Amino acid sequence: MWIVFISPPGAGKGTQCERLVRALGLPHLSTGEMLREAMQTQSPLGQAAAEYMHSGQLVPDHLVMDILQQRLDEHDCNQGCLLDGFPRTLCQAELLHELLERRGTPLDRVLALDVDRDELVRRMLQRQRPDDTPETIAQRLEVYQAETAPLLDYYRRQDLLLTVDGMQSPDDVFRSLMAGLDQVRRRHGHEPEDPS
Ligand code: ADP
Repeated sequence: MWIVFISPPGAGKGTQCERLVRALGLPHLSTGEMLREAMQTQSPLGQAAAEYMHSGQLVPDHLVMDILQQRLDEHDCNQGCLLDGFPRTLCQAELLHELLERRGTPLDRVLALDVDRDELVRRMLQRQRPDDTPETIAQRLEVYQAETAPLLDYYRRQDLLLTVDGMQSPDDVFRSLMAGLDQVRRRHGHEPEDPS
């Protein structure tokens, strides 16, 4: 099962991803997490990504593709995964499409959360991650609007998009996401149960 999760920064995607991978038994691939780890270990890729991440810019596609490809080659991803924070640009979406076509495994569903801008800023200022300063937050929201939001239409046209109201309680968001995955789960031989 191949699932993509798109949402603006601060929407609560991380929390929902944790619950989804537990419920679905899928590996969780967060490009943001992978890049932060690479930065911490000061690998060449991490060093190259650092300046972009610290200023709230997107890391260049070829670096993100490198780190993602390495992870996808590990065998726990054979049956699919939950992609969190990737793709973030139309170019990355096209590259993902090619990559999945080569594997013969089409994308099953794209999940998205819808949250007001003021609430996004409030949530990000609360979580105290080192790259969450007021300046980078504003920058990341702008980059999201310009680069990532167009993916919603791209996937809507392919009839893959499920948008959930991210202003609901975390439990309700999770229930809505799981309900939206019912069909996909049946297709992959899972009997959907009550996620509550
Ligand atoms: P958030 O959900 O708050 O945006 P992430 O952990 O997904 O946080 O990403 C943090 C940073 O990592 C981004 O601001 C960006 O610099 C970089 N990054 C993560 N994923 C990608 C990607 N797919 N393409 C380019 N840059 C990325």
